[in-house]
Amino acid sequence: MIAFLDLRAAYLELKPAIDAAVARVTDSGWYILGPEVEAFEAEWADFCEARHAVGLANGLDALTLALRALDIGAGDEVIVPSNTYIATWLAVSGVGAVPVPVEPDPATHNIDPARIKAAITPNTRAILPVHLYGQPADMDAILDIARAHGLRVIEDAAQAHGARYKGRRIGAHGDIACWSFYPGKNLGALGDAGAVTTDDPDLAERIALLRNYGSRRKYVNEEAGVNSRLDPLQAAALRVKLAVLNDWTERRRTIAATYAEGLAGSDLTLPHVPDWAQPAWHLYVIRSPDRDALQARLTEAGVGTLIHYPIAPHMQAAYAHMGIAADALPIARQLAGEVLSLPIGPHLTAEDAQAVVRACRA
Ligand SMILES: *Cc1c(COP(=O)(O)O)cnc(C)c1O
Repeated sequence: MIAFLDLRAAYLELKPAIDAAVARVTDSGWYILGPEVEAFEAEWADFCEARHAVGLANGLDALTLALRALDIGAGDEVIVPSNTYIATWLAVSGVGAVPVPVEPDPATHNIDPARIKAAITPNTRAILPVHLYGQPADMDAILDIARAHGLRVIEDAAQAHGARYKGRRIGAHGDIACWSFYPGKNLGALGDAGAVTTDDPDLAERIALLRNYGSRRKYVNEEAGVNSRLDPLQAAALRVKLAVLNDWTERRRTIAATYAEGLAGSDLTLPHVPDWAQPAWHLYVIRSPDRDALQARLTEAGVGTLIHYPIAPHMQAAYAHMGIAADALPIARQLAGEVLSLPIGPHLTAEDAQAVVRACRA
């Protein structure tokens, strides 16, 4: 049996160091923010080639607080991909703004810059690209449009830990990048965790304020914030895992290369990687018009797969009130019916990857 994901294996590989880090926090008597969170923030900013990082409770809060810090809310529109994980849309609607979907380039699965202009209205405030499956979106094209129309750029980087766009790490290409450290992400905590990175000191400061009840000084509240602080226990575990992130990303790259080579020439559509992209390979997503049958065969052969994502956001009951017809976003709809994620992660051996190739080809 080849598991799609094995979080326990990832923990066991680092068990002594993670257990020691957790013990360091429990022994310290300091359980909210403090030195462990600050150390992780500094290390994460450095890794992302960004000036600032602010640790938060999860990735959805990172997106939400990024929007709030840019004063985006009721009456505003934010351009989002039509084929993302629903959290991207939920952050926008959660602050009272309207998510305006734009279709992806089906080859890369990322938002198609050529389609963005047509979606801009006088109410548009920001573009929110997602580096889907760990492959960077075409940031220069997106930033050109944003500059020409006076829009902000918020990156959903929840799947892109360590990815590079034109040689530079994802982290501060746009105004602000939003991270999730949900356990299954490339850098995963032992529970929920998240962060933002940015080169803008004012944005970083505003988010640090918002995450802590709008308070810099205890019992002095400058604005109506929330409680979305990164837990020091999670920060301590993340620091251990950050130290091996480059190695683990390299393992993902090797698996992706095995799949690309082994499945070339098959009737499966493989991920297209533009020459300026260095993906983090959070997911290895293939496409087949016969997806459900393929998934069933792989399950029978002992290969675990998942679908990211089976229902496009505009077809979810959560967004029925927007009244977007199912076929108004045909690419998102089609991708949802054809995508299949093969196992990828630090737990997978070279033999496992070859076995997945054989099962796909059988
Ligand atoms: C995981 C994820 C999120 C949300 O992160 P949480 O930490 O689960 O809140 C947002 N956007 C994308 C693209 C994600 O994959």
